[in-house]
Amino acid sequence: MSDRRVIICGAGPSGLTAALFLSRAGVPVTVLESREGLYDDPRAATFHPPTMEMFAESGVTKRLHELGILCPRWQFRGRDEGIIAEFDLGILADVTPYPYRLQCEQHKLVAVLADILAGFSTCDIHYGATVETVSQTSDGVTVTTADGTEYQGAYVIGADGGRSVVRKSQDIDFAGFTYQERFLVITTPTDFEQQGFALSCYVSDPAEWCALFKVPGAGPPGIWRVVFPTKPEHTAEELLDFASAQQRLQGFIPREQPYSIVHTNLYTVHQRVASTYRSGRVLLAGDAAHVNNPLGGMGMNFGIHDAVSVATKLARVLNGESDELLNLYDRQRRHVANAFLQAMTIQNKRVLEEKDPVQRDMRLNEMRETAKDPAKARTFLLRTAMFEGIWAAEKVA
Ligand SMILES: Cc1cc2nc3c(=O)[nH]c(=O)nc-3n(C[C@H](O)[C@H](O)[C@H](O)COP(=O)(O)OP(=O)(O)OC[C@H]3O[C@@H](n4cnc5c(N)ncnc54)[C@H](O)[C@@H]3O)c2cc1C
Repeated sequence: MSDRRVIICGAGPSGLTAALFLSRAGVPVTVLESREGLYDDPRAATFHPPTMEMFAESGVTKRLHELGILCPRWQFRGRDEGIIAEFDLGILADVTPYPYRLQCEQHKLVAVLADILAGFSTCDIHYGATVETVSQTSDGVTVTTADGTEYQGAYVIGADGGRSVVRKSQDIDFAGFTYQERFLVITTPTDFEQQGFALSCYVSDPAEWCALFKVPGAGPPGIWRVVFPTKPEHTAEELLDFASAQQRLQGFIPREQPYSIVHTNLYTVHQRVASTYRSGRVLLAGDAAHVNNPLGGMGMNFGIHDAVSVATKLARVLNGESDELLNLYDRQRRHVANAFLQAMTIQNKRVLEEKDPVQRDMRLNEMRETAKDPAKARTFLLRTAMFEGIWAAEKVA
């Protein structure tokens, strides 16, 4: 057995980020991924400034800039009211070299990471390798895949998504809740910018909120994704049907000619955090450790921040420092998952869907006031652009 090799389960954004930071620190890595190759599921597409800072040195940020769309402004709107508040990340130019959101699909990040990792002879990625069991002794871990192959290493990182086999193998609780309504994502080439929409917008409405943002798609001019809530009584087939998606878009912004629809996707949405991110030699990161609704574009970014934190600390432990650092990883990242990721995404959804007219007015006014007051806007952007969560994690001892 390698006394330093780290086995990573899952080659999504979190797993490959951990692989990159470990590889750059000279730690041998084996990544096990159940898919047969790269994928293009249209999930995360928003990169926040701290994530771009973390990826800068490895060249990932430069590659993402070649592929993505810069989004310096985002809007909070009311479906009937129009623009309620517009936020310009440019006011954070003294805090970050990346004062904007970068819109780029997560599968493109995964491809960039896999490409860079191919340059490390110490990193192997095995596709078509579904992890089934994980066991550990006091000096190592054994991971077994569906075909019976055993992989041995010093530690394992479970970055295998919300249904994590690694998390389940250690009986780690995943408490929280699942929303009744699923989220429908409709993709269309219609350019909403021409109608005054910023490239990322949240639209509040007591009956049917929505969120829309532009992604690069196959290249310029890009495509738009519009996210709607759905009613629990509707079947997936009904919701994914292009004719009903057409009605949704027409209901949102009516127009004479039909919208062109590229695809529709439906997601079940949960708010959950693992009860621990460490069980001996088994560590969790990304969706395996926490899941949340996509409003605010935080889940993937947060998973990347976990991955950087766990990989950096693990490399130090494998170079002889105390494994107490891994407990620190658990304390830091789990604290901010609860205090920031969960709190903010739950709040984001509440603001969008508020039905009580008095509460709704109050929330919309708060947003207006925040946008108008430069000090409040700055505080708000430091939080929503995910700086505050990182600073808070660093303060946890
Ligand atoms: C509609 C939608 C929009 C979103 N938008 C954003 C956004 O704009 N910004 C943002 O930050 N987040 C967003 N998210 C959340 C984001 O997609 C996830 O947080 C992110 O994918 C988590 O990355 P991960 O690597 O932790 O897990 P995953 O992406 O789930 O990757 C896990 C990997 O593990 C593999 N795997 C699973 N089980 C096994 C096994 N047993 N053995 C081996 N491999 C296994 C899977 O095949 C997968 O490749 C969005 C999510 C949705 C649904």
